[in-house]
Amino acid sequence: MSVENSVSLDKEMLVDGEWVDADDRIEVVHPYDGRRVGSVPAASRGQVDAAIEAADRAHRESDLSAHERYELLYRAAELLEDDAEAMARVVTLEQGKPIAESRVEVDRAVQTLRLSGEEAKRLFGEYVPMDPQKGFDRTHAFTQREPLGVVTAVTPFNFPLNLMVHKVGPALAAGNAAVGKPASNTPLSAVKLFEYLDRACEELGAPAGLVNLVTGSGSVVGDALLEHDAVEAISFTGSTAVGRHLAAESGMKELTLELGGNDPTIVWRDADLDEAARQIVSGACSNAGQVCNSVERVLVDERVEDELVDALVERAEALAVGDPFDENTDVAALVDDDQAETVVRIFEETVEKGATVECGGRYEGRVFEPTVLSGVTPDMPAAREEVFGPLVPVIAVADFDEAIAEANNTEYGLEAGVFTQDIDRAKRAADEIDAGGVNVNTVSGFRADHMPYGGFKDSGKGKEGVKYAVERFTREKLVGFHAGKNA
Ligand code: NAP
Ligand code: MG
Repeated sequence: MSVENSVSLDKEMLVDGEWVDADDRIEVVHPYDGRRVGSVPAASRGQVDAAIEAADRAHRESDLSAHERYELLYRAAELLEDDAEAMARVVTLEQGKPIAESRVEVDRAVQTLRLSGEEAKRLFGEYVPMDPQKGFDRTHAFTQREPLGVVTAVTPFNFPLNLMVHKVGPALAAGNAAVGKPASNTPLSAVKLFEYLDRACEELGAPAGLVNLVTGSGSVVGDALLEHDAVEAISFTGSTAVGRHLAAESGMKELTLELGGNDPTIVWRDADLDEAARQIVSGACSNAGQVCNSVERVLVDERVEDELVDALVERAEALAVGDPFDENTDVAALVDDDQAETVVRIFEETVEKGATVECGGRYEGRVFEPTVLSGVTPDMPAAREEVFGPLVPVIAVADFDEAIAEANNTEYGLEAGVFTQDIDRAKRAADEIDAGGVNVNTVSGFRADHMPYGGFKDSGKGKEGVKYAVERFTREKLVGFHAGKNA
């Protein structure tokens, strides 16, 4: 029996400082072979409410200073770092990404915790000169940033650890209490994360309930978050459908939405085509394509289409497909049967409409080979829809106007990439592509954890990235000093 098979991952959830069970449980399976990995409680509505109320109380009781919040987050980072290999194995067990990629996710999560700790020390306000308006020459004013109270975090399956850190880290940095809710197919790495946070809180003497984790159905938890008055903020990463629902129902609550994408990467004829191909294949196939800003559409200058396609095929064929625990595997299984069926449908419909399969195209169960498709036109499903699979659809364009128009020919606007050596084209792409980020000489899939990150259009609202999340989890108060009787 392998180490993975012998690990017991039947876990509880964290409510008001206690690890608790529920009447029902949710089973977690390994995507690659379907074996049982563990289970978590399916929280009742009452348990979610209890977690929110505990967070509300803890937030009011907590008087952690900035340096204590920094220490808390640094301590959690240290605990995670010390347990990094075990955590990486849990991420691969529940989500199915290759173990090497899970190690990268864990390392990023350690850094995101530390970045959050540092940000706790930078909650600056500003001095506001009052004399621009007549009659206030002797008035002084400044702003101060205050926590919102209860910040809630709902995360998807594809980066089950680091996306939770992206919400809970900044929430705690800013002095809030947090309630987390991971995706039901990948809850175990979040449970482990909250074990470290819980321990770090305890060591520091923080009030019970400052961090809570509820596992369970998205709609049960979602309804509680929407309906409970104590919830000041909902930070959601996931599908556009759920994001729209939250936007419609969240009323006065602060809402951050990190949603889907159909990200373009433009390759112009003056670019280093081999380097572009290397990055595109990696950007389209990492985590088997289950990345929100993965390369979804390649828009290539038609004069170099053949050359780029050859380079893409060479790179894609070099990827090893197989067991995610094999150190050499580059592409493993999609997370579940639904995702796999959607990728197969989009692939088959795109080929039926006339696209050419340059390499790959075979699938079995949840495993889909890295696949390069040429001759793709903008009306085909692989171009129109967000594909959470390792497809590389190549669309040829005649000129740069068409490249920009095609880049924007989507309801999404998360990130974009453009490979060119021409500074004017690069600047034009940056100005004219309607996306939350435009990356010159790399792919749309680029993200560093401190940078502002978040899409336009149907890709969401608001930004993440530690400093930017902290801004959203605080409110700004103006304090004015007016002349008193001794003035
Ligand atoms: P999803 O189905 O929307 O689920 C995301 C989370 O929302 C899960 O925790 C889910 O819980 C929960 N949920 C479901 N129904 C809910 C409701 N009514 N109210 C509140 N929460 C609810 O998304 P997914 O399939 O896991 O993730 C894939 C999507 O996420 C893709 O579209 C991808 O592009 C997007 N994504 C975006 C970013 C970004 O930063 N922009 C990053 C990663 C992923 P259950 O699991 O219990 O249903
Ligand atoms: Mg889902």
